[in-house]
Formats: sequence, structure tokens, C-alpha cells
Amino acid sequence: MPAAKIYYDNDADLALLKDKTIAFVGFGNQGAAQAQNLRDSGIPNDKIIIANKEDHYAEDAKSKQFHVEHDFGKATKDADVVFLLIPDQVQPRVFNDLVAPTLKSTAAVVVASGYNVFYKLLNVPASNDVVMVAPRMIGSSVRSLYEKQQGFPCFVSVEQDGTGNALPIALALSRAIGATKAGAIASSAREETAMDLFAEQALWPNIIKLFQEAFHVLKEAGCSDEALCYEMWMSKEPAEIFERAAEEGFIWQLKHHSTVSQYGQLKGASKLDGTAIRAHFNDILHNQVLNGKFCKEFTAIEDALEKEGDENPLNALYKEAEESEMGAAEKRVRENLKLTQH
Ligand code: NDP
Repeated sequence: MPAAKIYYDNDADLALLKDKTIAFVGFGNQGAAQAQNLRDSGIPNDKIIIANKEDHYAEDAKSKQFHVEHDFGKATKDADVVFLLIPDQVQPRVFNDLVAPTLKSTAAVVVASGYNVFYKLLNVPASNDVVMVAPRMIGSSVRSLYEKQQGFPCFVSVEQDGTGNALPIALALSRAIGATKAGAIASSAREETAMDLFAEQALWPNIIKLFQEAFHVLKEAGCSDEALCYEMWMSKEPAEIFERAAEEGFIWQLKHHSTVSQYGQLKGASKLDGTAIRAHFNDILHNQVLNGKFCKEFTAIEDALEKEGDENPLNALYKEAEESEMGAAEKRVRENLKLTQH
């Protein structure tokens, strides 16, 4: 696989956005950050419109002097660019029912995650552009790194080139929100979705399970709940390890550990046979993520996620995790130590 292309400010022409009307559907995490960055990059305020129902998000946008429209169709019908920055699970309904019917035939639809595009859940006419500009950061960092003129990591791709001009527009938008300053990595909705859902459905579930099993084995060997909670995560040692991994390298951060620790970790990892885990990972990636099985399962339970109590499958999963040996032990430890718990 060749190295990915990386686009910088010089690859992007902000003049392409001159006179364009830009609508942001959603003013949450990403919407608030990206709209402010775009305006600070020189897009006139009267060319930006925020679509949001009348609530605290709309109030926030108004307090920042944005023009807010509560009727989504009205907000987007004249837009040349529509940023779809609402939660992934509500995007198809909002876009297909409220935005698509009056969308300009040449407008560019911008998503910040590949999910709905990869699984073809958005009904975008063939004449429109669909581009992905997907920051790898939470919204507050998208804003603060822009303010520090540092930029932030971001994936960019063209998913549908209706106008024949989608890439220059995607790059101009990436520059306007501050992404090309640090370098926007050429990617695709498929790649972004594969990596995102793989991490969520393969990597992190295994990490949760590893922690639960480690907790069980050490508890059985006589370690106290208090000692285990602190040793395993409450001391923030794992958080520090990952921070150093990002800053200095996944392997090279080991140099900060004691020699006993370095030898134990590297020797232990080299002795492990990854065959079973690799087979399991391949199974999740190909037979759950890329083939759309998870997407179908999630779509089927989506409405139930709005319900209260045990009827909500997410609440039921939380209950199961909280009642597990490790979950119950941590609850007790946190209560005893008067630590916060959500
Ligand atoms: P948020 O949860 O912050 O979105 C909140 C916004 O969505 C509000 O404006 C809210 O308005 C609106 N919204 C919520 N429900 C509805 C609805 N049913 N109808 C209309 N509007 C609704 O989302 P994020 O900013 O976190 O995510 C936006 C996109 O960015 C997603 O595609 C996500 O994957 C992607 N992304 C997110 C990152 C992050 O840091 N969270 C990082 C990178 C990408 P109201 O409640 O008033 O309706």
C-alpha cells in the first residue's frame, strides 16, 4: 500500500468558497467548532447559516452572532455547502426527510464521519458532491488548535463527484476549518468506517475483557479491590502510557518504565501467539463491519435506544457491565473513597 497523500494549506484554495453559502446542520461538538473556524478563515458571517431547533445549541450559536434557522429545509435550500454535523444515527432521517428534498443540485454535502456514506444511508442525488472532512479530534480541540494556529489531524475524501469539482471544494473547506495546517490525510469513508468501527467492536471490547479477566485473576490471588482499581487504572498510569505513546512512540514510551517492566512487557508480548486474536479481528472486520452486518443490527435497534430503563438495549448492556465482578467492585471502591461516579 503506498503512503497516503497529505494535503497542506498550499494545496487548498480558499477563493473557491467566495460567495458560497454554507449551512451547518448541527451546532454541537463539531458544528460549533467548525463553523467558528470557517468564519475566522474569512467566510463572511452573512454567508453562514446554522440549522438547529430552538434550544441551547441554537442559543449558543446566536450568542456567537451566527444566523440560526430552525426550519432545516429553509436553512439548506440555498446552500452551496451543507455540513452535516449531527450524531451519525440521526443523520439519515434528518438529511433524507428535511434536507434532500430542497437541496440545490450542485451543493456539496460534507460529513465528518464515513458511517452513513459507506453504508449508503444518505439519499444524495448523483448531481451533488459528497465529501468527507473528518477531524480526528473532539470539537473543543478542533477549535483550540485552530486558535493556536496549529491545525489538527483530519481525514479528507471525495465520495461522490457530482460537479467534477469536489476535491478542490473539499480541500478548500478543510483549509477553512483549519485542517490542512497540520496536514489533511487522503482517506475514504470505507477506511474511516473500517478503522473506527474496528476499534469500537474489536480492539476496545478486547481491552475491556482483558481488564475484567486480569481483575478476576488478581482478585482470586488475594489482591484487594482498592489496590486493583488503583493499580490497573485509577492511578492514571494507563492514561499516561497512551499519552506518551502518542508523543514518543508506541514502543519507545517503554523506555520510561523500569528495566524489569521493559523486559517483562517486551518478552511477554513476543511470547504471545496472536493467531487466535488475528482470526477474531479478521472476523469482526470482514463479517461484522465491512459487510454491513453491524449497521443492519444497529439500525434495527435504533428506536429502542430512545427508550427508558431495561427496554433500552444500551441500558441493559450498561447494567450487565456494572454488575460484573470488576464493575461492582469499582462501584463499592468509589463510594468508599467518595470518588465521583456517573
Ligand atoms: P453532537 O452530539 O455534538 O451533535 C449535537 C448537534 O446535533 C446539536 O446541534 C443537536 O441539536 C443536533 N441534533 C441532535 N439530534 C438531532 C436530531 N434528531 N435532529 C436534528 N439535529 C439533531 O455531534 P458531534 O459534533 O459529536 O458529531 C457530529 C459529526 O461529527 C458526527 O458525524 C460524528 O461522527 C463526527 N465527529 C465527531 C467527533 C467528536 O468529537 N464528537 C470527532 C470527529 C467526527 P438539537 O439537540 O438541538 O437537535
